[in-house]
Amino acid sequence: MGRPCRPKRGGGGYSGTGLRRLLGVEFMDIERVGAGLEPPAALVQLLAETERLVVLTGAGISVESGVPTFRGPEGLWRSFRPEELATPQAFQRNPRLVWEWYDWRRAKIAQARPNPGHLALVRLEERVPDFLLLTQNVDGLHRLAGSRRLLEIHGSLWEVRCLSCGAVREDRRVPIPMLPHCGGCGGLLRPHVVWFGEALNPEILRRAEEALIRAQTVLVVGTSAVVQPAASFALWAREAGAAIVEINPDPTPLTRYCRFALAGAAGEVLPRLLSRLEEQPSR
Ligand SMILES: [Zn+2]
Repeated sequence: MGRPCRPKRGGGGYSGTGLRRLLGVEFMDIERVGAGLEPPAALVQLLAETERLVVLTGAGISVESGVPTFRGPEGLWRSFRPEELATPQAFQRNPRLVWEWYDWRRAKIAQARPNPGHLALVRLEERVPDFLLLTQNVDGLHRLAGSRRLLEIHGSLWEVRCLSCGAVREDRRVPIPMLPHCGGCGGLLRPHVVWFGEALNPEILRRAEEALIRAQTVLVVGTSAVVQPAASFALWAREAGAAIVEINPDPTPLTRYCRFALAGAAGEVLPRLLSRLEEQPSR
């Protein structure tokens, strides 16, 4: 397995032009992006001509909103691993413990607001006739920002599902009563998120696949592209002919398959890209 390649900063001794051409990747240096480097004109043109676009986002786009990573060393949960809490078995064993963990996360995320990266994707949606945003995030920030053509492929922290009747409802109570029960049938509620070892909703998967297969361009933002099946999404689209564009502070396993890989934070890179795009004549 080769490491994802990346240009050295400052140019000292880097002779990767041939390699870049081979991989079809145009790199931008993270420091120069931060200092206001413009996105490549060819990328702006590609997006201006794209009529069928899929955007795939992950945790990286929410970092600037202050959404905590739950692997951090904070408080109550430091002695648990998510793999031990976010499973159907854990919920069966101890639903209160799992709900307490979700309640803690909901309380943290209730304070978060969409950042310029989320808002830029709303502007992008307005420009593109056939658009779909696929997010791995369960924080609800895309919806809060105003994204409409959106599939939350791992579910939402703000929805609950009844284990007895299957009803899914929005529930924004913070704190949530312990244990929460269904208003319809009295059954136990669980978070409507996809846990480790669970399959994605087949209807969501079908709609995602259809959009990926017809996409001309796939924009991957703030995800290390290692969580399956999301990691495969961009590669399916590429097989079907789409150009892949990545925005991430660091290289990922996907970087080598990208036509453009922009090193930087979504909240800085996306608004700049949208400003350039909005200067293009509209179709
Ligand atoms: Zn019910």
